[in-house]
Amino acid sequence: MATNQLLFFSAKPYDKAFFIKHNKGYGLQLEFLDTHLGPHIVNAVAQGTFAVCVFVNDKLTAEVIEQLAAKGVKVIALRCAGFNNVDVEAARKHQIRICRVPAYSPEAVAEHAVAILLTLVRKTHKAYNRVREQNFSITGLLGFNLYGKTVGVIGTGQIGKAFCRIMLGFGCKLLAYDPLPDNEVKTLGVHYVSLEEVLKQSDILSLHCPLTSENKYMINQDTLKIVKDGVTIINTSRGGLVQTHDVINSLKNHKIANLGIDVYEQEDKLFFKDLSEMIIQDDNIQRLMSFPNVLVTGHQAFFTEEALSQIAEITLDSVYRLSLGQEPDPSVLLN
Ligand code: NAD
Repeated sequence: MATNQLLFFSAKPYDKAFFIKHNKGYGLQLEFLDTHLGPHIVNAVAQGTFAVCVFVNDKLTAEVIEQLAAKGVKVIALRCAGFNNVDVEAARKHQIRICRVPAYSPEAVAEHAVAILLTLVRKTHKAYNRVREQNFSITGLLGFNLYGKTVGVIGTGQIGKAFCRIMLGFGCKLLAYDPLPDNEVKTLGVHYVSLEEVLKQSDILSLHCPLTSENKYMINQDTLKIVKDGVTIINTSRGGLVQTHDVINSLKNHKIANLGIDVYEQEDKLFFKDLSEMIIQDDNIQRLMSFPNVLVTGHQAFFTEEALSQIAEITLDSVYRLSLGQEPDPSVLLN
């Protein structure tokens, strides 16, 4: 069996470009498919393929993993940090190793969260359209200062920490909730409090925790009852952290003043695709996009040259080592 085959799913032109460039030092045999991995396509995996390389919206259910195992696949390489789309237990059962890219330019995601936040609070998305129509009126573009505002950060890992640093630079007061508080974050001047206090006291909330079965829909009709009136919520983490229907209600009754999302629970049917000629059937995303105070980006927070280079380098290094029977750095392994 060839031990150097790496089959990509959901591969876009930029994936090919960065992986081919970085593969020069590894010499793995790369093959790219643009379809999502799921039960419908798993049969396309050739017998004896060593590794599959997947992204956030590929579905690695127990059923898919069982079929990958039957094909002889030994490694699932996630070219992302989050792994909520993989049944890790099923992979363990079938002795398929899983590697991911736990940290790649966390600043890329943190800076995008700030970009969304600044756009919303200074309404630059509206200003951009206005001036293109030679409308230089500023009526309706009134924003607010970030300086002096209380920013609540939920999850202070790599990305949350980078986000805290930036927001401290704006002169914000930083509150955070994380079940595993980080001493470095504390020394930056961030105050850890309970989740409830973060929700109650923050003018701006930014989500930077992984999606787990425990925190699914952490922003829901109950938690939205205790947030400040006129809160701004930014989610660059995972769509499932937010109950979309409840958020829409809170936008309608002005409880939420601004919402910025780079992720969406049903994004697998929408994001990373050009649907400009299609009739979108998802009424929730259409409703969200109809609000003037909602900004949606299509899971692009990670999308910088620096991040794509690191993703390619770390993924190829992990697969290469596993193909030689070596152990990659433990931080990249999920099992
Ligand atoms: P990380 O593992 O470094 O940090 C995650 C932190 O969240 C940890 O400190 C952990 O203790 C904390 N946490 C776990 N459960 C929590 C909970 N219920 N409440 C609060 N905190 C909790 O991960 P990271 O690199 O900072 O990435 C964070 C998330 O960002 C990823 O899980 C992924 O979902 C998302 N992400 C999005 C993009 C994008 O392009 N939009 C790119 C990369 C990562």
